[in-house]
Amino acid sequence: MAKAPVIVTIDGPAASGKSSVSREIARKHGWKWVSTGAFYRGLAFVALKKQIELDDTQGLVDLCNSDEWSIELTPTKTEVVFQGVDVTDQINHEDVGSFASRISHHTNVRKALLAAQRNCAVGQIGLVAEGRDCGTVVFPEAPIKVYLTAKSENRALRRALEHGSDVQEIQTAQKIRDQQDSSRKTAPLQIPENALVIDTTELDLVGVVAAVDRHIQKIMTQL
Ligand code: C5P
Repeated sequence: MAKAPVIVTIDGPAASGKSSVSREIARKHGWKWVSTGAFYRGLAFVALKKQIELDDTQGLVDLCNSDEWSIELTPTKTEVVFQGVDVTDQINHEDVGSFASRISHHTNVRKALLAAQRNCAVGQIGLVAEGRDCGTVVFPEAPIKVYLTAKSENRALRRALEHGSDVQEIQTAQKIRDQQDSSRKTAPLQIPENALVIDTTELDLVGVVAAVDRHIQKIMTQL
């Protein structure tokens, strides 16, 4: 029988460093990496294109199951393909993130995306899954859980530098998004039980990856 994959979950608020850290951890260990946020961003992007309303739960659920768009895992990105075109660069803007946050509270939408997220682990030796509910809902049995956080101003600055946009505007949008993601009834952003919590405000990528890696080594010796 195939060995179960090692699953590492990395959750946290907007721009807390989840993607960079997850990608690097997956690369070092030869594991797959998935940004579950890409599922919500992809859905938001396609819904905007199709002019599906924010509160049209059935329309959004139907879109989750549509073959017009798909998610592909690559070592460097969780790719969103819409009508055969890679639109990953377009989903990374804060306006798509805001829309994603506003549709992600629908319980049925979350349910409709869950199986595809879990399937990312099938057939793998390891998977690093990052998002808001990876350690609590998507992979609650994962042996290794991490929660990244950082000061709001630092998180906004990171994104503003990446996208060349205004820090204040990004900070305001991220605060609204974090508030929505933390207060929703279904799968809110929260620290999973037994998660290692890392404040990345004063750390660089190498420092955070090293801390996560130490945690992985520690847990792996106990498995
Ligand atoms: O992580 P990222 O910023 O790409 O996520 C975009 C939005 O998707 C989040 O603000 C959140 O509303 C939603 N999301 C979620 N559950 C996840 C990942 C993302 O609700 N596991």
